[in-house]
Amino acid sequence: MTFAKLGLIDQLQRNLQTLGYDTPTAVQVQAIPAVLAGRDLMAAAQTGTGKTAAFALPLLQRLTMEGPQVTANCVRVLVLVPTRELAEQVHQSFAEYGMSLPLRTHVAYGGVSINPQMMKLRKGLDVLVATPGRLLDLHRQNAVRFEQLQTLVLDEADRMLDLGFARELNEVFAALPKRRQTLLFSATFSDEIRALAGVMLADPVRIEISPRNTTVKTIKQWLIPLDKKRKPELFLHLLKKHRWGQVLVFVKTRRGVDELVDILLAAGVRADAIHGDKPQPARLRALERFKAGEVQILVATDVAARGLDIDDLPLVVNFDLPIVAEDYIHRIGRTGRAGASGQAISLVCADEAPLLAAIEMLTKQNLQRIEERGFEADHRVPETNASGQLVKKPKKPKKPKAGSFRGPAR
Ligand code: AMP
Repeated sequence: MTFAKLGLIDQLQRNLQTLGYDTPTAVQVQAIPAVLAGRDLMAAAQTGTGKTAAFALPLLQRLTMEGPQVTANCVRVLVLVPTRELAEQVHQSFAEYGMSLPLRTHVAYGGVSINPQMMKLRKGLDVLVATPGRLLDLHRQNAVRFEQLQTLVLDEADRMLDLGFARELNEVFAALPKRRQTLLFSATFSDEIRALAGVMLADPVRIEISPRNTTVKTIKQWLIPLDKKRKPELFLHLLKKHRWGQVLVFVKTRRGVDELVDILLAAGVRADAIHGDKPQPARLRALERFKAGEVQILVATDVAARGLDIDDLPLVVNFDLPIVAEDYIHRIGRTGRAGASGQAISLVCADEAPLLAAIEMLTKQNLQRIEERGFEADHRVPETNASGQLVKKPKKPKKPKAGSFRGPAR
């Protein structure tokens, strides 16, 4: 299959060539013709499947073919995303795919001044990528109007609901024209998402790229059972032993992120943090430094890492397991992108057994356990069975206590 056969115009094909995209991915093959034909879409596609291009390319094409016609403060295509990082990334994709097309695009999210966003909207926009909260702020101040809105895209819709955006979404929907095209993308399809699709979409084309709630097969996943207090020490040990290159590390809390970064910096490892307490410019800077290879280890929380697009990332480490099992799929989707192979290693302590069980149940797999010599757990991580249920109570083997790791004073 080629992009030409999918009906994309020459200009877009040339831009894709420049970016080195030779062949459309599965979600692109199915979505591009449907979106070009004006259909609604309900797509189960994880990050890494090429889903952004699957909606951005046909929408750019339709806007270009219709010609410039947007009036003051109006928006023709609205893309709603859960986080600032994803907003930046999706907008960047629109800019790259639409290079040299006569279209006006912009991005709007909270945590930064609203004024430049209002200025950009004055002449109207062909594409606005926004987080729901900031979009509503702009709408309340009459900076954005929807009477010319043709298409609404909900990207990572499951995540928007997880993050508690249901009320904001309803408020946005109420303000949009009833006649419009709606494209809904979600990594996983919960009952809540299906209910949302039921009211939002008209006779949608349904696309399911990977089987429901499974993780990408090219990613090698396993876990190392250990005691909680030894996690930093084990991480440093593995980093040295395997001579890891760049690693994206997920930690449960913002505080945990900062603590691990402190420990890594104290050990002379170039590390940076990305979490919601950091102002947006600092988050973007950390990401840019990581992408440029100036930072070896990027430590992130789930919310902040949502939508990070880092090419060819070989390794993701779950320093803590996520509280929400679906986040496991999002996290490990950062590696093994667009067909590349990757590894995802989870450091799991006894407390996390219920979280592990939930992940195994969701992904319908048992994660292989590989103990690291010298780091065997005093507090055994309870076994889980094939359907992700806990089968044994934790028991404490009688072993001499392993020395605990001392991080820098905090
Ligand atoms: P996404 O799932 O949209 O986050 O895209 C994942 C990654 O795949 C991004 O780095 C894209 O630039 C890349 N990508 C998307 N489509 C293609 C394609 N057809 N060929 C090669 N890379 C692609």
